[in-house]
Amino acid sequence: MSESLPPFRAPTGTHDVLAPESALWEGLVASFAEFAYRYGFSLVMTPIFEDVGVFTRGIGEESEVFQKEMYIFEDRGERRFALRPEGTASVVRAFVQHQPTTPWKAWYITPAFRYERPQAGRYRQHYQLGVEVLGTDDPAVDVEVIALANNFYAAIGLKNLRLLINSMGDEECRPRYIELLSEYLEAHQMELCDEHREMWRQNPLRVLDCKKEACIRVTSGAPMLIDHLCDNCRAHFDQVIAGLSAIGVESFLSPRLVRGFDYYTRTTFEFIAESLGNAQNAVGGGGRYDKLSEQLGGKATSGIGFGSGIERLLLARQAEGVVAPLLKRTLDVFVIDTTGGDSVTLLIEQLRAAGIATDRAYDQRSMKAQMRVADKSGARWALLVGPEELLAGEVTIRDLRSQDFEQTQQRVARSQTVSTVAHLVTK
Ligand SMILES: [Zn+2]
Ligand SMILES: [Zn+2]
Repeated sequence: MSESLPPFRAPTGTHDVLAPESALWEGLVASFAEFAYRYGFSLVMTPIFEDVGVFTRGIGEESEVFQKEMYIFEDRGERRFALRPEGTASVVRAFVQHQPTTPWKAWYITPAFRYERPQAGRYRQHYQLGVEVLGTDDPAVDVEVIALANNFYAAIGLKNLRLLINSMGDEECRPRYIELLSEYLEAHQMELCDEHREMWRQNPLRVLDCKKEACIRVTSGAPMLIDHLCDNCRAHFDQVIAGLSAIGVESFLSPRLVRGFDYYTRTTFEFIAESLGNAQNAVGGGGRYDKLSEQLGGKATSGIGFGSGIERLLLARQAEGVVAPLLKRTLDVFVIDTTGGDSVTLLIEQLRAAGIATDRAYDQRSMKAQMRVADKSGARWALLVGPEELLAGEVTIRDLRSQDFEQTQQRVARSQTVSTVAHLVTK
């Protein structure tokens, strides 16, 4: 006696992506790959787990991601690893390890893992795509990375995005500023939110980013880093802003924009989807990390990048009511064969070799049953091969969208089938 077992489900906070939704993913990735290529980037693939230090050194042990959200585990050899919580650190680790010629421009697509409370648009395994450039601090590259993001978002149909930008300074001006900010926060610490009243010293910059009203009120009078940049950082920032405006990309200075990871220096930016409301509305962001290479044991090397969560991008698309498919992913042809002959298998392979998306029924079913599958398949054309066609060396081509297919269908010689279909498909 065997009782049926309860079926497995995907783990909490994860999700499967099946057709037809997966066609959106495919289109998004193809579009991103195309933009990356146009901008001179090559694909990089790195492991989804790394020595835990790869993430903690750059992201910072004080960060919320490290403290609450990372998947950390010990393997059978008692090594301590972490599943990648974001895209950048692994790519920079690969750069440090392989020392490719600079500037090194790489793009990636990867799952990222955060132990978060599951909610709309937040997953424990989500997907990110992004780019990184290592080996130059030229403001032109900041502009280029932002332009790539901006053009990619436009290409996938997002119109209501707002680009926020800020500078995080560098090792010269940021420590001076943090002292200034700390003096201010100390004087006002009783007015901060519950969490920051106790914790602000651990990372004073995070208070600027706090969404609680108390912290927003206090910090509205706080000194802002953008007003305390050193001359080099100021000049760099001004050149980035000028460069963006020269190519017609509108940006908004956001002095409170402090991204969650310690490794950011100078330019930081975020693209906000206004359609997503006020929370969880960033569809992408990034910035410079001129110290990260050194933190991972490499030579001092400037870097900049950005990343976007695919799920969030698709939510924003939906919120903006963008329905245009990103990629044609429907069948051209469905082949109905009741003869079971190898010659039909050959015909199907020839259609596919000619670039025609072709599917067929299996299991030698009746004409009627195969016809039902053809109707459901989404294919525009059906090719019919029955005993009569087989004998005559012909194939019937039927337009599945035609109301009166008896009238519109045509019989063509077997040898003419591929060229005839190719012509119909491209029409
Ligand atoms: Zn707060
Ligand atoms: Zn500076």
